[in-house]
Amino acid sequence: MTGAGSLLRLIRDGEAVTRADLVRRTGLARSTVAQRLDVLLAHQLVYEAGGSASTGGRPPTLLAFNQGAGLVLVADLGATHSRLVASDLAGVPLSEATYDMDIAEGPEVVLPWVHERFLALLKEVGRAPRDVRGIGVGVPGPVAFSRGEPVAPPIMPGWDGFSVPGWFSKHYDAPVLVDNDVNIMALGEHWTHWRDVEHLLYVKVGTGIGCGIVADRHIHRGAQGAAGDIGHIRIAGHDDVVCRCGNVGCLEAVAGGRALAHRLTQAGFEAKTSRDVVSLVRAGEPLAIQIVRDAGRHLGEVLASSVNFFNPGAIVIGGDISDAHQQLLAGVREVIFQRSLPLATGDLRIVPSRLGDRAGVIGAAIMVIEHILDPDAIDKAIEAGVAAA
Ligand SMILES: [Zn+2]
Repeated sequence: MTGAGSLLRLIRDGEAVTRADLVRRTGLARSTVAQRLDVLLAHQLVYEAGGSASTGGRPPTLLAFNQGAGLVLVADLGATHSRLVASDLAGVPLSEATYDMDIAEGPEVVLPWVHERFLALLKEVGRAPRDVRGIGVGVPGPVAFSRGEPVAPPIMPGWDGFSVPGWFSKHYDAPVLVDNDVNIMALGEHWTHWRDVEHLLYVKVGTGIGCGIVADRHIHRGAQGAAGDIGHIRIAGHDDVVCRCGNVGCLEAVAGGRALAHRLTQAGFEAKTSRDVVSLVRAGEPLAIQIVRDAGRHLGEVLASSVNFFNPGAIVIGGDISDAHQQLLAGVREVIFQRSLPLATGDLRIVPSRLGDRAGVIGAAIMVIEHILDPDAIDKAIEAGVAAA
């Protein structure tokens, strides 16, 4: 059935800008289109703009999606840094803020803190909590997506099984979606720069290493939300390295930012974090350059198998270490093109992230917007009379 929600989708995607377009695209009777459009207009999800230039007669009224019909609030919570955004319904950030915040403080400290800053963002753009259509939260750990609960996240004490949507429901009457930070980054990067690519891997190389999988233009989370956890794939020849997960030779324990910083410290350099490693690379320190390039090769080893297995059209590399992307990508490319099958690498692009630190909030906003503006969700909301202000 082609309900009002499907008409909204056509208008949002720019595939229909007039009533005639909608009739043509849906095959519905003109009167039916008019009826459904009236509902969308009444809920202020669509507005009519002046007619276009015409060669005579009355110009057709143009239809446009009202991206200001509400807003979404999103938080990309990292281990120690967070980025919060209030965005319109087209995913355009209206106000944005970054903070230092320790996720290990636990949900009862972190979520009230997020809520307070959400209220500040709303105030900044002159909107109220009732204008909020959805909330998105990214966290640095595995998440049971359907429940919005982190699952045994190693660096998030107190969050295991905690219902993030349950906490926000005290303050907002809107859906709350929670996902792993790498997944929302993958979504943000794909939506913004790679929509013509059906299959994409987004690899975050920060303190740890993780991978978001876009398959058929959708995030692939796997049976338990653990898909893409490449940081704990074993690489050859490093059985002397013990990983925080308890296994030996994990990719992350050899090539993650923490491991690289540790090796530089041992060599007498001042390096505590991934960013310190990048600073040393930028300063032209040969040892730093060498270990980042080696890290790229180790990452390339795991990705070469992933390329054969999944055949992505693009691999986007982000995360703090990717700021030294010339060195990192050189190593990645070298091994992937040497080790993957020619058919799989024929059109493969391996590129640095273009959104950088903002990939997560943009992806989280898109995740929420696609959820609330899904045709079925719109039809249900209209039925319940809550689609828009
Ligand atoms: Zn491990």
